[in-house]
Amino acid sequence: MRRVSILGATGSIGQNTIDLIARAPDAYDVVALTGAGNIDRLAIDAIRLKADVAVTANPECLGALKDALAGSDVTAAAGPQALIEAASRPADWVMSAIVGAAGLAPGLAALEQGATLALANKESLVCAGRLVMQTATTHGGRILPVDSEHSAVFQALVGEAMEAVERIVITASGGAFRDWPIEKLAHATPAQATTHPNWAMGARITVDSASMFNKALELIETREFFGVDPDRIETVIHPESLIHALVGFRDGALMAHVGPPDMRHAIGYALHWPERQDLPVARLDLAQIGTLTFRAPDPARYPALDLARQVMARGGLAGAVFNGAKERALDAFLDGHIRFTAMAEVVARVLDRIEGQPGLMDAEMTLDNVLAADLAARAAADAEIAALAGQARTGS
Ligand code: NDP
Ligand code: MG
Repeated sequence: MRRVSILGATGSIGQNTIDLIARAPDAYDVVALTGAGNIDRLAIDAIRLKADVAVTANPECLGALKDALAGSDVTAAAGPQALIEAASRPADWVMSAIVGAAGLAPGLAALEQGATLALANKESLVCAGRLVMQTATTHGGRILPVDSEHSAVFQALVGEAMEAVERIVITASGGAFRDWPIEKLAHATPAQATTHPNWAMGARITVDSASMFNKALELIETREFFGVDPDRIETVIHPESLIHALVGFRDGALMAHVGPPDMRHAIGYALHWPERQDLPVARLDLAQIGTLTFRAPDPARYPALDLARQVMARGGLAGAVFNGAKERALDAFLDGHIRFTAMAEVVARVLDRIEGQPGLMDAEMTLDNVLAADLAARAAADAEIAALAGQARTGS
């Protein structure tokens, strides 16, 4: 039996992972499941899958979790340290599907115990790519990409030499507002931004999809995971979301990965790697699809893409600053404090502001320094958000 743990088990990726694992209960020994606020879901799945431990990130939820697990053999725990402890429990395969920079430390803990890390939490690579990749190498662990584009690239590279790769093209749906007049974007509401045209995902990544901050994170993720120069990574809008990525080789060949927009494909590939096994995903009828379309992203509509290029050129801890600022700007948009279009403005200003704080972005890439850069970015973002909200109130 393979020992598996799922970090972020109550989320969209976590639930899709559980869907696959629950289909073959005899094949898996579930070690740890983690969540945050969704205690009922966490407890139901932990009992159903006979997990050893269920952990909520929220200390104030420990009592509720204990109550929900009463009478079962599942141990309850809570808090960030308990998450790390759960990730450190020996397991063969760990799904990293916590949302945000909060997934970094537990993911590193899983790698330190030598597990194969199925990585959905792209923020880990954006904030601390070199550290994450090095931790895997040092401890003999392996990272398998779960982000659909990166899984697609990974699959297109099987049997190929990296020297033969000329370029990597990751596709983007263009998000909820891809066809809106650009001047309307400032008035987009959280409810509109959390509705995706093709994919069913968590609310945060759905908004990031509309702003293309998600693609910006994925550009950086591509660079960190595959070690390619930023000028060899492209992104193209592909509204049908059926081609997830393409790899271009030196002979001009482009290898595309085509599949339905169902995350169980990428999760299942990482779960069964290096084999392929049956997956309950739809099979595409190409004749019925008929046409696949592509278009270049408009930089004015999607300023996040340029910001990602700046971050890659800057290097150091700029990725952690970028992500921290983005997370706070996203919170502020979801809470109704800033406009949709202000998110990119906040992130750009934070990058400038932190550049002016000597040493922060050039500190050595350790977990502590990455978390410090993340905190500094969040504080700077909060200041920028307050200033913007103030301007909006006074009408200036
Ligand atoms: P969800 O918001 O659906 O789920 C997030 C998970 O993280 C939940 O289990 C949530 O718990 C938990 N969580 C939230 N905050 C914290 C915290 N501070 N500490 C610990 N755990 C926390 O997100 P998704 O499943 O959509 O995304 C997860 C990750 O995978 C993200 O990094 C995302 O970018 C990436 N990803 C997602 C894709 C998708 O299709 N959804 C596609 C590609 C990548 P609870 O719900 O109990 O509060
Ligand atoms: Mg993706």
